[in-house]
Parts: sequence; C-alpha cells; structure tokens
Amino acid sequence: MTANWDMSQFVDSHSRTAGHQRTCTVCGRGFLAARPQALYCSSRCKQAILLRRRHEAGRLHRHRRCPRCGDVFVARRSDGVFCSNACRQAMHRKRMVRERVLP
Ligand SMILES: [Zn+2]
Ligand SMILES: [Zn+2]
Repeated sequence: MTANWDMSQFVDSHSRTAGHQRTCTVCGRGFLAARPQALYCSSRCKQAILLRRRHEAGRLHRHRRCPRCGDVFVARRSDGVFCSNACRQAMHRKRMVRERVLP
C-alpha cells in the first residue's frame, strides 16, 4: 500500500551513500565518486593525466634557451643553463671581465 513511499526512501538513502556526482577532469564524463573531492572517473583517466603532467613537466624542464647564443637545446642535466661548455665558459669569462671593470 505504501510501496512507492518506501521505495523512494530507499533510493534516496541509497544514492546518498553510493557516491558523489562528479565530473571527470580528464574525459569530462559524469560519474559517481566515493569521495567528494574525486577528480577522475577511473584509474585510467588518473593515469592519463599523470602521464600528461609528467610529459609537460619534462618538456618544460628539458628544453632551454641558451642565454649566450639563443639556441634552444635539450638540457642533459636539470641545472644545465648553456647549450655547450663553450657558451658556459664564454659567459663566465664575460662576467669575470665585467666584474673587474665595474667599480
Ligand atoms: Zn574520465
Ligand atoms: Zn649557446
């Protein structure tokens, strides 16, 4: 007799505990997450954004412009600033001269 009412109660409480309606930041699909702060619909999407971020970070860190000759080069070391030893030494010499000349 009150089957509909009981049913709606069940569905309501069930949906509240089942998850939070979220939108995946990777594929843009809506999904139910266990945690309200969830960002990805699946481990696959999470993996995808981690890979993308790593790739972008690597690209930013590796491609540098040499301050001496202006060439874009791939830094072999994370702290590499110049494209070659020749440029590094040339800048070093220039700085030494400038420091000696300036009062
Ligand atoms: Zn997704
Ligand atoms: Zn250079």
